[in-house]
Amino acid sequence: MGRIGSDDAGMVRIDENAGFYDDERTGEHGSEHSDAAGSETGPVRMGATRRAFLSASAASAGAVAMVPLTAAGAAASTAGPPGPGAPVTPQPPDAELRAMLREVDHRRIEATVRRLVAFGTRHTLSSQDDPVRGIGAARDWIFEQLQGYAAASDGRMRVEKQSYLQPLAPRIPTPTVISNVIATLRGDTAPNRTYVVTGHYDSRVTDVLNFTSDAPGADDDASGVAVAMELARIVATRHTEATIVFAAVAGEEQGLYGSTHMAQQYKAAGADIQGMFSNDIVGSSTDEKGIRHPRTVRLFAEGVPTSETPAQAAIRQSIGGENDSTSRQLSRFVLDVAQNRSTGMEVRVIWRRDRYLRGSDHVPFLREGFPACRFTEPNENYAHEHQDVRVENGVQFGDLVEFCDFPYIARVARVNLATLWSLAQAPGTPKGVKIDTSRLTSQRTLLWDPAAEADLAGYEVLWRETTAPNWTHVIPVGNVTTVTIDLNKDHVMFGVRAVDTAGHRSPAAFPLPT
Ligand SMILES: [Zn+2]
Repeated sequence: MGRIGSDDAGMVRIDENAGFYDDERTGEHGSEHSDAAGSETGPVRMGATRRAFLSASAASAGAVAMVPLTAAGAAASTAGPPGPGAPVTPQPPDAELRAMLREVDHRRIEATVRRLVAFGTRHTLSSQDDPVRGIGAARDWIFEQLQGYAAASDGRMRVEKQSYLQPLAPRIPTPTVISNVIATLRGDTAPNRTYVVTGHYDSRVTDVLNFTSDAPGADDDASGVAVAMELARIVATRHTEATIVFAAVAGEEQGLYGSTHMAQQYKAAGADIQGMFSNDIVGSSTDEKGIRHPRTVRLFAEGVPTSETPAQAAIRQSIGGENDSTSRQLSRFVLDVAQNRSTGMEVRVIWRRDRYLRGSDHVPFLREGFPACRFTEPNENYAHEHQDVRVENGVQFGDLVEFCDFPYIARVARVNLATLWSLAQAPGTPKGVKIDTSRLTSQRTLLWDPAAEADLAGYEVLWRETTAPNWTHVIPVGNVTTVTIDLNKDHVMFGVRAVDTAGHRSPAAFPLPT
């Protein structure tokens, strides 16, 4: 059925004459020089790593991975076992995305972080009506900024304050109004299909109930809010097929309250959330030893679903689906579209829901059964998180703006932008994907529901060894809803993705037994 998606070898092009990363040409030279200096002493020799990583990205059929990445990070061209199909290659950014990635402005991100810090504290229990200090002033400022971006959207972006009264809880000593600020850019052709990106605008110090001390929260999480807002600004003027939601949520530090309310509202409304990303602590590339990792962002992705029912667990246990949750497929999609020269970033996927003892705003979305992951900086410095601002034995504690690396935040924003744009322009993740198990044979017939997208070109079957971290082979199968693949289904993992006429691919769907 013709040539679609990655079957078209001409889609993957690397311009050898260009700067190594696109952002080397976009006015970040000063900071990029400091990146290079900073990484000299680090464990990551970025020069060599970048070259190897790009050679692998550009690799053609049959190449072996030369990439010194973690297994989960090696998205491209893992020379898999022999079998049908071509090697999987990354999806390059389309022209409009490349233009948008160049618009991500680290100076605007810096201005946003500094403005949020200037509210003194953004603690969830702080004043909601003081015009200068406290979470209410921050809420209103974010709302006004987003409304300004929405003004350029021809009425397609709607901005709202989503508020509810949180009753008493361990970290809520008095009933408290919690407000999320949400900008929704309605998709043109698939408006019900929705992707969400968040940062949390509340902040804290050492005592989680202290709502009076200065709590700058520059990294945690003005940085994530700045990412969501910068994306809203850039995408507001563009037309997307699916809907994208850019949100600043509150109540995170008290117990993920804002995002819990948001996820529950979506669930109650029957929303089709096909991907959600929390950006939480994305402000610094420097670890506790002072070593910089300026081109790495971590992406936490759970395996066994938080929302799994006993019946779903029984299926997973019988077929081995613990590495094929919707969130894992989403993380593989991020590697496919956002780890490239245009973002200038390596995405280090971590197969956990979140760090030890920690959780972020993706968790409530996982609880409601939505695919969700968390972006966070490569190594945290705990002297700069959840700390009273103070100097102790000559060491500065506190989440201060001076510890932020704004070009780094801009690169994290590019990873998010590449991901969200590629999701919103592609067909949705195929639904109703099944593998025929009606008879006890090794036959491998896959079937799925037809997609509604007008620009659908067809589907691709992905497969990999059961022990491989990422898809290794792709088989274009055309615009069909059932296909038989010449592989023993007991030996490999299958996925199905949809591809449009422009080559945009959906995340893969993992087939369940019929
Ligand atoms: Zn946080």
